[in-house]
Amino acid sequence: MLTLLPDEFHSNPSYVGSKKKWIFLVCQDKFILNRDYYLHDWVALDDKTAQSFKAFRDFKLCIGQYKGIDCEVWNLKNVEIQLDNFMLVDLREVLISCNALSFSAVCRSSQIVSWYKTNKFCGCCGKKNTISSTEHCFLCSHCNLTNYPKISPCIIVVVINEDKCLLARQPSWPKGMYSALAGFIEAGESAEEAIRREIIEEVGISVSDMHYFGSQSWPFPGQLMLGYIAYAKSNKLTINNQEISDANWFKYDQLPAGIPPSTIMSGKLIRYAVSKMAGKNES
Ligand SMILES: [Zn+2]
Repeated sequence: MLTLLPDEFHSNPSYVGSKKKWIFLVCQDKFILNRDYYLHDWVALDDKTAQSFKAFRDFKLCIGQYKGIDCEVWNLKNVEIQLDNFMLVDLREVLISCNALSFSAVCRSSQIVSWYKTNKFCGCCGKKNTISSTEHCFLCSHCNLTNYPKISPCIIVVVINEDKCLLARQPSWPKGMYSALAGFIEAGESAEEAIRREIIEEVGISVSDMHYFGSQSWPFPGQLMLGYIAYAKSNKLTINNQEISDANWFKYDQLPAGIPPSTIMSGKLIRYAVSKMAGKNES
């Protein structure tokens, strides 16, 4: 018998058959949430409340269990929805504002919906896929190709040089907003090789002494952010303006006005790097 994580969200493609259910509602890649969702640890709607959206349902999938209770994601058709007590919230906004307990389930809901919508046909022979009854997997009965939700690993790095850290910005970001450098891991690369390549491509410096910090899902649509701290071998930056609009060294107590919130990997990593530098400086 399956043993579930007692206090957390447990990813699972199958139901355990709980009496109650929690429902995540996705509509046009946004989430339908209670107006005061950000005050709560857990953002899903109970199944009774979700019933008013049932007529708009396109498909539903089990995503796992929260404290032993089955969780489903419903993808709703692109229709006008009366939202009275609810609001339609952008995925990015949900991730920035929801509690850590809801984060994984929101990421999973979004990724599973995106995977389901984009894998109806086999990528090899073009025949219609069928979905497995036991796992989140599309199968082609013609050529046996399988399609699981695609996860794309990325590295995200704060580079440290003495009491300063390297942060960069993209042209589309709000004025004053800076974050850690990040990029996709190319086929065949290790995370550490990707870090060395990305940093030299984007700002022209070599790094060494890389330390893994932690990972976090980032469902745009299937990124897995692997957070690292690295140390610079030099401090002279040569900025590649095709990738970023600016990059600079910031002293740990003089960070730019806009850095990402502590709910997401970039924000966690910057605060961790700052605490490391501050600790070293005071000792
Ligand atoms: Zn096929």
